[in-house]
Amino acid sequence: MGGLPVIVAGGGIGGLTAALALARRGLPVRLYERAAGFGEVGAGLQLGPNAMRVLAALGLADAVTDAGFRPRALEMRLGGSGRTVFRLPVNRGEGPPYVQIHRADLIRILLDAARAAGVALVPGRAVADLAQDRRAVLVRLEDGEEVAGRALIGADGIGSTVQRRLFGPAPARFTGQVAWRATIPAETLAQGLVAPHATVWVGAGRHLVSYFLRGGRLVNLVAVEERADWTRESWTDRGDPAALRAAFAGWHPRVTGLIGAVRDCFLWALHDRPPLPRWSVGRVTLLGDACHPMLPFMAQGAAMAIEDAHVLAACLAVGPEAPALARYEALRRARTARVQAAARRNAWRFHLKGRLARLAVYGPMAAASLAAPGLLRGALAWLYDHDATRAGGPGG
Ligand SMILES: Cc1cc2nc3c(=O)[nH]c(=O)nc-3n(C[C@H](O)[C@H](O)[C@H](O)COP(=O)(O)OP(=O)(O)OC[C@H]3O[C@@H](n4cnc5c(N)ncnc54)[C@H](O)[C@@H]3O)c2cc1C
Repeated sequence: MGGLPVIVAGGGIGGLTAALALARRGLPVRLYERAAGFGEVGAGLQLGPNAMRVLAALGLADAVTDAGFRPRALEMRLGGSGRTVFRLPVNRGEGPPYVQIHRADLIRILLDAARAAGVALVPGRAVADLAQDRRAVLVRLEDGEEVAGRALIGADGIGSTVQRRLFGPAPARFTGQVAWRATIPAETLAQGLVAPHATVWVGAGRHLVSYFLRGGRLVNLVAVEERADWTRESWTDRGDPAALRAAFAGWHPRVTGLIGAVRDCFLWALHDRPPLPRWSVGRVTLLGDACHPMLPFMAQGAAMAIEDAHVLAACLAVGPEAPALARYEALRRARTARVQAAARRNAWRFHLKGRLARLAVYGPMAAASLAAPGLLRGALAWLYDHDATRAGGPGG
């Protein structure tokens, strides 16, 4: 089999991180991306310490931190009164940072590093089908060309072709929620309107998240509403700022002030899928949204793809392909399913309807935040303290 490459389908955050991690371990890698270019679209992403730990292991911590913004805290506030439910300080100097970054900036950093590491990057070509035997996987591209590889990684997102070819159709489910996304130049906003925190403003049937990007020069906004009439899932569908303003009318002046400054926004239908029972068959596996798409309410979809990438590369670097991929899957399935479930629970927690429900859920959170902040931090330790660079065998 000699020098056959690992083939990666998809050049999003997951595919690029996987390609880079594999190349860094000395494996030849060929990445096919359906789009004509790489990831110029999108908005903000939050990268918790669990993702930053992997990016640091890939030598990218400084580049990512410099391109992003380090918040002082994560906080939840009531959308109407503005009252703080909890505030959890972050970036206090211990462990990897918590960083907010524009998706296009992260893609650019990964792309440059992957190119420098020798990954063959092939935009404008899509993976269409696959066949495999004990010696290799044969990948057919949409234009008919066939390419042989030692393994195929389906990092081709929520509508994954590789997932369908392996296991048949398992369509993602519309969750009944839509997200508006916008970025706003900070210079157009009143001083102090946005705190240097990742803030989630919660209310009945909707919530809004705001945070800084690019050293504080840009503000990212994600506003989510329960709604049944929009099911498209694309980073590039336009939304109507007037409808966004109407959905959050009467909310706290800091929310309406922020939304008032939105000139242009995108609308995105939120889909997820129950955890898949299997990700791999022989020399082929899945990674990122292709195998565990999730609601964005833990801000962990990209982070899970980044963790996957590191573990996958560590496994493939030491073993024959099929057992290595089975081991990767075994190391990752439970954790990603737990994050998927936590994101679903937050959909309920963020959208509570009625005073009593809010009191019952937010009351104890507020009390803990004031009296025992360590409790909140402890409750998130499973997520943020996880070290994916230690999983997967020799060299992490
Ligand atoms: C509103 C919103 C906010 C979010 N906020 C956060 C956050 O704060 N933190 C976080 O960690 N995550 C966040 N996420 C989730 C995150 O964006 C995704 O989980 C992550 O981008 C998934 O990466 P991926 O590489 O698996 O898939 P994708 O980014 O979907 O990449 C898949 C790539 O594969 C390509 N492709 C598709 N089919 C083929 C094919 N057949 N052949 C070749 N290429 C193909 C596509 O063109 C695409 O480039 C958010 C998501 C949303 C919707």
